[in-house]
Amino acid sequence: MDETPDRNVCGLKIIGAVDIGGTKISVGAVTETGAIVKRLECATRPKEGFAAAMERIKNMLREVIGGGFKLEGIGIACPGPLNPFTGIIGDVGTLPGWEGCNLMAGFESEFGVQVAVENDADAAALAEARWRAAKCNERFIYVTVSTGIGGGIVLSGELYRGATGAHPELGHQIIDASGPLCYCRAHGCWESLASGSAIVSWVKEQQPDTAVGTAEEVCILAQQGDPLAQRAVAREGYYLGLGLANLVTVFTPDAIALGGGVMKSGHLFLDRALEVVREVCTQVPAEKTQITLASLGPDTGLAGAAQAWNSRYH
Ligand SMILES: [Zn+2]
Repeated sequence: MDETPDRNVCGLKIIGAVDIGGTKISVGAVTETGAIVKRLECATRPKEGFAAAMERIKNMLREVIGGGFKLEGIGIACPGPLNPFTGIIGDVGTLPGWEGCNLMAGFESEFGVQVAVENDADAAALAEARWRAAKCNERFIYVTVSTGIGGGIVLSGELYRGATGAHPELGHQIIDASGPLCYCRAHGCWESLASGSAIVSWVKEQQPDTAVGTAEEVCILAQQGDPLAQRAVAREGYYLGLGLANLVTVFTPDAIALGGGVMKSGHLFLDRALEVVREVCTQVPAEKTQITLASLGPDTGLAGAAQAWNSRYH
């Protein structure tokens, strides 16, 4: 864990931020300006059950908010599907056995503050829109490219929600109907063509005996001049670009920020993606949409959780 800063924190207003992922859970104390002053992490171990994970989170929260902070509220970011108003988790692929469990209930009674739960991509979108370096966020879309592809839309500082609060699934827009079958049951959705898993699947399809196991490894090989990995990276630029082009044509937002693990290698394929956007988006002023890498980096999860609370209750 990070050390608590030496400065006097007595009375400093903080938001307890909880970022739940399939692999790890981060818990932090985040100020109202988005600074993370303390953080802890543990493995999620979803199969040990929801109750056990909640106990671990509560213990970490008690630890991060100790030492004189004033707890304003708690924000929780979690992969969807989930209901952001009741806190009830749906059938989340990376959290088996947690369906129907309530993320909100235990925390409100234990800590006596309001709790905001948000889909993690929406939470990240809110944090990027509020705290990102570049400010042209009136119409803003955040896209995360990692194992899957997700995103959130923020209009005038407010999260865009669909009917009954539904979270728009940007990653499952169809890019090529003859493409691979996705678990969403569509063929050739954006996630099935341009996510980290899609990069690995494609390489394995081309070369079944490959030792490559992650998108990051493919990107490293591409940088070292491996021809198949370079084709995979070129393909990533093309399909990433097509999905972005759809967002630009449909929304023409002021900005799109790209985050997630795969974008750490964005220097290998972002230029190609932007070229595709310029080629395809002829019917809207596409040059008005700034497409950049997200600015919060590894802090996005906790900043998102805190901003989820901030934007709902502050
Ligand atoms: Zn899909």
